[in-house]
Amino acid sequence: IGGMTSYGTLLSGLNYDWLNRAKVAPFYAQPNARLPQYKTEQVLRDRARSIANIDLYLGYEAVDLTQDDRSATLTIKERGSLALKNITADYLVGADGSKSFVRTKAEIPEVLSEHNRMMALVVFTSTHLHELLKVYPGKAFYNVLHPDFQGYWQFFGRVDHGTNWFFHAPVPLGTTKENHDFVAMLHSAVGQKFELELDYVGFWDLRVAVAKTYSKGRIFLAGDAAHSHPPYGGYGINTGLEDVRNLGWKLSACLKGWASALLLDSYDAERRPVFQSTAADFIEKFIADDDDFLSNFTPENCPDFRKMWQNRNENADEVMRFEPNYQGSSIVAPASGRPSAKGFHSHHAKAGHHLSPQLCADMSSIYDHLGRDFSLLTDGSDQDLIANYRQAATDLGLPLKVIDTLSPQAVAAYETQVILVRPDHFVTSTGNRIKARDAFCRAIGQAH
Ligand SMILES: Cc1cc2nc3c(=O)[nH]c(=O)nc-3n(C[C@H](O)[C@H](O)[C@H](O)COP(=O)(O)OP(=O)(O)OC[C@H]3O[C@@H](n4cnc5c(N)ncnc54)[C@H](O)[C@@H]3O)c2cc1C
Repeated sequence: IGGMTSYGTLLSGLNYDWLNRAKVAPFYAQPNARLPQYKTEQVLRDRARSIANIDLYLGYEAVDLTQDDRSATLTIKERGSLALKNITADYLVGADGSKSFVRTKAEIPEVLSEHNRMMALVVFTSTHLHELLKVYPGKAFYNVLHPDFQGYWQFFGRVDHGTNWFFHAPVPLGTTKENHDFVAMLHSAVGQKFELELDYVGFWDLRVAVAKTYSKGRIFLAGDAAHSHPPYGGYGINTGLEDVRNLGWKLSACLKGWASALLLDSYDAERRPVFQSTAADFIEKFIADDDDFLSNFTPENCPDFRKMWQNRNENADEVMRFEPNYQGSSIVAPASGRPSAKGFHSHHAKAGHHLSPQLCADMSSIYDHLGRDFSLLTDGSDQDLIANYRQAATDLGLPLKVIDTLSPQAVAAYETQVILVRPDHFVTSTGNRIKARDAFCRAIGQAH
């Protein structure tokens, strides 16, 4: 599912492999997958339908929102109807996209980083382009960097393999569907004419936006409602899904009664800095670095331009460095730093970092055993420690799953025999120096 970056035009022959996320596969339990947006939505809808206590209201629009100390109420209306319906709940999560009604209604302002660029999104059908790109096998997306675009991308992505494509690129301010030749723009980016059929043309302003806070009272924001950015690097929905993973267990803990609302404060404290770092250290840095290179080096002024272009790839470490983590968060064991998208993938189990998949003694994956709540991983050698954790969990009313079959290889990779793992599979604490009760209290945002 990797991509490539070309200089000048897509078919210039000056290209390098780019954003090969297969490099980080050993650090995750699931293999990488790439799904077009419409299929992603289908998967999410099917999943929602399969959960008995979700009521799905498709075709409804949120038109009002109120909250008090005890609940939040959303007023919805079926499209084409005037009848209103109120839904009242303990909490409300607005996952309603970058123009979020919930965010606006809750009066949560956004911090904007404007780029003063108008972008066009073109969806088109072309088997001819698929044929032309067979010279670069195994790629799902293609970026074209041209000095005229000051570091902003001309980006081709496959929707369905072989036929359907999307393309986005900057266009002059004031461009409309009628006053711009989109076919010529595509031919120019590819570097030759090819047969295509335009399916859709749309526009957006390129900016990075982040809500000033991800929560207000009983209202939370997740996904593009909380943060939006240009689609550079495929961080969008992934960041949204991670928001939900972070918030989900915290809301569940409060509703089940084993954590107080204090735990919910950590959602904003952990997730907002991760997005800010994704935007500054990756997305906007890509644009700045590309602009810097393109404005300083050209095939005309550098005899060894081809080598320099390749070197950009050899030195690239953005895939390994993109390791969103909550190091320094108040609900994981103390460590320097603060939550960030910048880290480094490693099997070493560290507080605030995602747990890499290792094997249990029976060769099954740890991820086959991790619980939906807290999990204690050990090699079983210290039964007193396990008893302490069980007792502390019982005292605090916390659900705990003990997995005491870590293999020696797993202990070596994790560099510890004891790991307390949160429900979202991030590490709370490691080692036997922290007391079980203290580890749990900290993990649920409670004074100990
Ligand atoms: C060209 C392009 C390429 C992209 N490529 C990638 C990629 O490769 N990888 C990646 O991770 N991300 C990518 N993204 C970003 C990704 O599409 C978004 O981050 C993602 O869709 C955000 O999901 P969301 O659920 O938060 O918001 P949305 O997808 O915007 O969904 C919000 C939903 O809320 C509904 N809604 C809004 N207001 C109301 C209301 N008042 N009442 C009821 N419903 C409402 C909307 O109808 C919509 O269904 C790309 C985006 C673009 C434009």
